[in-house]
Amino acid sequence: MATVNDNYLKLKAGYLFPEIARRVNVFIEANPDAKVIRLGIGDVTEPLPDACRAAMIKAVEDMGDRNSFKGYGPEQGYAWLREKIAANDFQSRGCDIDASEIFISDGSKCDCGNILDIFGDDNVIAVTDPVYPVYVDTNVMAGHTGEINEKGEYEGLVYLPVTAENNFTAEIPTEKVDLIYLCFPNNPTGATATKEHLQAWVDYARANGSIIFFDAAYEAFITDPNLPHSIYEIEGAKECAIEFRSFSKNAGFTGTRCALTVVPKNLMGKAKDGSNVELWKLWNRRQSTKFNGVSYVVQRGAEAVYSEEGKSQTRALIDFYMENAKIIREKLTEAGLAVYGGENAPYVWVQTPAGLTSWDFFDKLLQTCNVVGTPGSGFGAAGEGYFRISAFNSRDNVNEAMRRILDKFK
Ligand SMILES: *Cc1c(COP(=O)(O)O)cnc(C)c1O
Repeated sequence: MATVNDNYLKLKAGYLFPEIARRVNVFIEANPDAKVIRLGIGDVTEPLPDACRAAMIKAVEDMGDRNSFKGYGPEQGYAWLREKIAANDFQSRGCDIDASEIFISDGSKCDCGNILDIFGDDNVIAVTDPVYPVYVDTNVMAGHTGEINEKGEYEGLVYLPVTAENNFTAEIPTEKVDLIYLCFPNNPTGATATKEHLQAWVDYARANGSIIFFDAAYEAFITDPNLPHSIYEIEGAKECAIEFRSFSKNAGFTGTRCALTVVPKNLMGKAKDGSNVELWKLWNRRQSTKFNGVSYVVQRGAEAVYSEEGKSQTRALIDFYMENAKIIREKLTEAGLAVYGGENAPYVWVQTPAGLTSWDFFDKLLQTCNVVGTPGSGFGAAGEGYFRISAFNSRDNVNEAMRRILDKFK
């Protein structure tokens, strides 16, 4: 019989979101009249900006005329999109990133996982804890870890706790690690990284020959003008960092699918024979072999994010979600809860009231307020005692959920 990749058997069987769904279903069956509000999702709720829709409709028309029809596009993505990204997202912030260093893809989630294809299996890998589960699970699948322990930590990974005790900063490890996943603004904690903090990471990576995987999926939610949006705003980052970005959260593309990965041309890894190898070449080879590009229609939609209307419409979307986050922060604080994040990110990270585990608080909120959030412990051992509330929702749902919580907790 054909054998399987045994590494998959080490994965904790898709525990978090199925378990949330299970508990919510049990509750709804017992309380069919309860109006449950879900503030647990990491998905956007508001419609696509008009500018993106209009550009995609026009692109569909292009496909209907043999003069403007498009077959396979360039594997790296169309130059007109990469040039707009380079100019608007990077060069405008003083980052020396060229369009040729940008790879368009159908998602950052896929890229975060696929990037492991071009790295060796002997790297020491560090993740923050709590963490976006994709970073961990893709390493488990690739055989980079041992088994999971009862706290939910995989043997062989270096976990960097980020909690209220260290002010939600990912502290520089004392040991040498080769690959580091950083995500700022952070999912799930909503924490941010200052330029000084990222400079310390870049200095560490350059001193140790490490590569930083910088996930900037939430950069558009930054409101504090002093915070960096890209790791390439940090001196020396082009020599040690790959950046992942996505149109999912800033422009509502979670169902439309478009993202990008930046691999600077002079970024190097080491081959077994000790020689330096350009990572750009390997990623280009990987993408042109295993990926055939994002659809022309969707790339036109993403391009429209950089038009004048696109910029103001995506700004309005982000402002809408950030107003939700502000309401959540204020009301939960009024209810006597300790809250973090939510100021430069669409997630509010709540400390559970004394004595309650993340899942205790989940059950309490569900049963007394009929509100669903995400238990922090589902994002890692150090997430125990915390709870994630998402600002991705309608204003009515946010207001009603906060009214119920204030009612029960104050
Ligand atoms: C939502 C999200 C992304 C974006 O993923 P896509 O595949 O581009 O939709 C990336 N990283 C984090 C941490 C996210 O929460």
